[in-house]
Amino acid sequence: MTDAIAGIDIGGTKIGIMLGTADEKVLLERVIPTQIKLGPYKILECVIETIEEMKSQSSTRLVAVGIGCGGPLDLERGLVMSPPNLPGWDEFPIVELVGEKLRVPVRLENDANAAALGEYVYGAGRGFENIVYVTISTGIGGGIIIMGKVLRGLASGTGEIGHLTVIPNGPLCGCGAHGCLEAVCSGTAIARRARELLAERQPSIIEQMVGDPSQITSQVISAAAAGGDELACRIWDEMVFFLSIGIGNVITLLAPEAVIIGGGVASSGEQLLGPLRSLIRQNVKILPIERVQILQAYLGNKSGAYGALIIGREVLAGT
Ligand SMILES: [Zn+2]
Repeated sequence: MTDAIAGIDIGGTKIGIMLGTADEKVLLERVIPTQIKLGPYKILECVIETIEEMKSQSSTRLVAVGIGCGGPLDLERGLVMSPPNLPGWDEFPIVELVGEKLRVPVRLENDANAAALGEYVYGAGRGFENIVYVTISTGIGGGIIIMGKVLRGLASGTGEIGHLTVIPNGPLCGCGAHGCLEAVCSGTAIARRARELLAERQPSIIEQMVGDPSQITSQVISAAAAGGDELACRIWDEMVFFLSIGIGNVITLLAPEAVIIGGGVASSGEQLLGPLRSLIRQNVKILPIERVQILQAYLGNKSGAYGALIIGREVLAGT
């Protein structure tokens, strides 16, 4: 029987599960919905059942589990500490419970670090030694890998790129500070900015694209901007400008060979990356900036599950 490792990527809407071998081969993948109303214990039961089913389908023996989950986490105690996207997960002892049910060693990691590892080993980061991963969706997260190691820092707080200040005294952020990158450039912030400008009765095609302003998403703004809508272009350009400030600062500090951008907002591809690269090249002068690649994440919404698999391998290898 082949030894297998499971990677679990827990998100607010879905949970990605991968089964792989110790030598980086992926055997099986599953995605199940996160039925928040069931609560963490029932949700975890569904995850365990899915892993059991994957084990028997692949005729493998489970030897370790890696878990990626949105923070805050208490990594020392293996607890999920009420992440905003997982209501009801208060001090939830996920490491202990998964270990008890599956009887294998388990390690927990924050989801952005897991996604960074996934891209580093399997995706757009392959072949680089030093990368920064940035995910832009409803929030903005980041993971930093230097010389092949994830940087963790005090309370695993390294890489919180979403909370770099880009506008002093700017919009209030969910973290309590003002003018964070996340409060200006996340999908949520883009939609909020659009609603503000539309409320000032600025003409735009956005109103015809969505019946109700609450339905505005970054994808709507991206599509309207691609079609030349003036208001959408203004919102998009502002967003890319502030993103270039934040990411430019990260490049100046860390000198990575690549910055990999994932998350829903990054699905706009070159519409985002093209102007972002040119603004960063204009602003960062201290480094050979033409050698820093700014790339779209390759694994899409699977980066986190691939990363969780790698974390499972790490716990097995004792690293
Ligand atoms: Zn913040």
